[in-house]
Amino acid sequence: MKVPVVVIGAGACGLTAALAAKDAGREVLVLERDATPSGSTSLSSGFVPAAYTRFQRAEDSAERMFSDVQRKNHGTADAALARAVCVASGPTIEWLADAHGVPFQLVEGFLYPGHSVERMHSVPEKTGAALLFYLSRAISARDIDVLTSAHVTHVDSGSVRFERPDGSGESLEYGALVLACSGFGGNAEMVREHIPEVASAQYFGHAGNQGDAVRWGRALGGAVRDMSGYQGHGSVAMPQNILITWALMTEGGIQVNAKGERFSNEHLGYSEQCVPVLQQPGGIAWCIYDERLHQLGMTFPDYRAAHDAGAVRPAPDLPMLGKTLDEVRRYAASGGQDPFGRDFSNKPDLVPPYYGIKVTGALFHTQGGLVVDEHARVLDRSGRPLPRLFAGGGAACGLSGPHASGYLSGNGLLSAIVLGRLAGTAASASLYAR
Ligand SMILES: Cc1cc2nc3c(=O)[nH]c(=O)nc-3n(C[C@H](O)[C@H](O)[C@H](O)COP(=O)(O)OP(=O)(O)OC[C@H]3O[C@@H](n4cnc5c(N)ncnc54)[C@H](O)[C@@H]3O)c2cc1C
Repeated sequence: MKVPVVVIGAGACGLTAALAAKDAGREVLVLERDATPSGSTSLSSGFVPAAYTRFQRAEDSAERMFSDVQRKNHGTADAALARAVCVASGPTIEWLADAHGVPFQLVEGFLYPGHSVERMHSVPEKTGAALLFYLSRAISARDIDVLTSAHVTHVDSGSVRFERPDGSGESLEYGALVLACSGFGGNAEMVREHIPEVASAQYFGHAGNQGDAVRWGRALGGAVRDMSGYQGHGSVAMPQNILITWALMTEGGIQVNAKGERFSNEHLGYSEQCVPVLQQPGGIAWCIYDERLHQLGMTFPDYRAAHDAGAVRPAPDLPMLGKTLDEVRRYAASGGQDPFGRDFSNKPDLVPPYYGIKVTGALFHTQGGLVVDEHARVLDRSGRPLPRLFAGGGAACGLSGPHASGYLSGNGLLSAIVLGRLAGTAASASLYAR
């Protein structure tokens, strides 16, 4: 059996790639290892940054978004790729909304660190699970086949082999192949090798993401880059294991350790906060905030789940944190920065009653991977495209460079959705070119 375009992985990247390939006139088949597709996409908050969309109506542009992305990674990502992704971001969100009924809207009311303007888009439910639902609905509407319980075990330059749950194996030939099976966060050995600083951290992403794309791509001659890059997070509720939105920090909250002391600039970003939190006594920290921020938190489904699970602890006052809270108020009053470099002057003071959540750091997903160009073509070590091989999302090297601190909020789904579309379109076009 020969299929024009085969996509491996049914997360945001794979489903978007399949829609794009089908829109470009090609038959496409998606192979997914799980019985029900979920991926890291369904675990995520589902926030996708995009510039200059009609939902946004802000003073934004692809160039401004590109500057924000590159500022966060200190210019360490591939600039041509980053620019191409930012340019395609707005049209991709509008295409998914208009052609495929994904009900995107702008997330308003706060900025994640590093974004100079509100540009996060989400579906109304504000969850990755709902985003995956709408993408899956579009896949069904376009009559695209998704073969589930199809664990791809072997890829070569013209065919793939996959295993079924009963242990039987099947093969099929492809015209073009899109690797959308994400990164290696679920592969402890690869994490130890490439990102030792989070080897002991909990992995919070999809367990099925075992680094297969990197393994196959390399075997086919593909180059990899920035394998030490990743999205971490410094705010996962313990022991409930629920993501606590970083908006609590960007809008004025603080993190303290078990001794009641602050230990970092919480405004640098949640990704780079993973390791500092893990380095505190017991590997934990407390997010401390007030009623105003509690109300903001309640607009997020994850936070509401944490609240219902008892992770959110109210306190009429926090005498044991008196010194720390006084210091923070002094920084705000003096209009200056604290010793960690955070500016407290631009948000209201924290006032009683307070709230606290015990959190730890976690690895969310890996950002390094196969080197791709502006058409999501996988490149060899000399920078030449490998024939009919494409990658996006966690399978490809993203826009964050080699460090956790280079991750600008949304870089994950940005490269999943935008590179997914570019990959599907280019995979389809590569067949006409033959
Ligand atoms: C808690 C959490 C919150 C997050 N929040 C955000 C956010 O708000 N915004 C953002 O931009 N990013 C966020 N991220 C990151 C984001 O989820 C990922 O970057 C994105 O989902 C990657 O999409 P993907 O399609 O590449 O991979 P996935 O969604 O993981 O999909 C990969 C698919 O490939 C399948 N697969 C793997 N190997 C094989 C194989 N051998 N054969 C067949 N199938 C295979 C997997 O089963 C999976 O279904 C978050 C991550 C986490 C963990």
